[in-house]
Amino acid sequence: MKITSDIFEVGGPSLSHPSDAAVYMILSEGETALIDAGTGGATQRILKNMKMCGAQPEKTRQLFLTHCHYDHTGGAAEIREHTGCRIIAHELDARYLEAGDSEVTAASWYGSFMQPLSVDVKVSEKKRTFTVGGLQIDFVHTPGHSPGSSALTVRSDGLLVLFGQDVHGPLNDSLLSNRNDYIRSLEFLISLEADILCEGHFGVYHGKDEVRDFIESFL
Ligand SMILES: [Zn+2]
Ligand SMILES: [Zn+2]
Repeated sequence: MKITSDIFEVGGPSLSHPSDAAVYMILSEGETALIDAGTGGATQRILKNMKMCGAQPEKTRQLFLTHCHYDHTGGAAEIREHTGCRIIAHELDARYLEAGDSEVTAASWYGSFMQPLSVDVKVSEKKRTFTVGGLQIDFVHTPGHSPGSSALTVRSDGLLVLFGQDVHGPLNDSLLSNRNDYIRSLEFLISLEADILCEGHFGVYHGKDEVRDFIESFL
């Protein structure tokens, strides 16, 4: 599914596997980056969808993980095997991936377990900037749903696109959620005034008003 001329949705319940959170792809000047990886239940399908959108999966240099939850990360290792990409996550969630913690990563919610996953780049600051082809991607720490939850922003077709993923939560003690952090993060996401919101489970929202209303509804 094409979202802008550089951004596509290549995975999710209707595109890859019923348990997968949305997987988004940025394609710029022949270079590809993925945002989240699904559960791993249908990685081949995700790779096929990438090709159908004009990408060469082997030119994927970066896989950004918005947080450690299994529906977003279970497929990360297999995607790295197939593409040689590096995996990027905030350090506060990377530790649960590297430890293979099936509770904090919510793998147990899916009747599965988290295989220890090495994270190549651990972001420790509030914001780090990456590039994909000709595009600049900001990776911003937005804790609350999980300790290391992060959002990404990119400008495409003149529009500010926000990859908020699990904007909706939920908050749960076993996920080490923090309500005050979550509220602050939602307020920050609203302040960005994004034109497009790519969410992890609720689809894609277009227009500043729709984006703001969706995020505000969880405050
Ligand atoms: Zn989550
Ligand atoms: Zn999720």
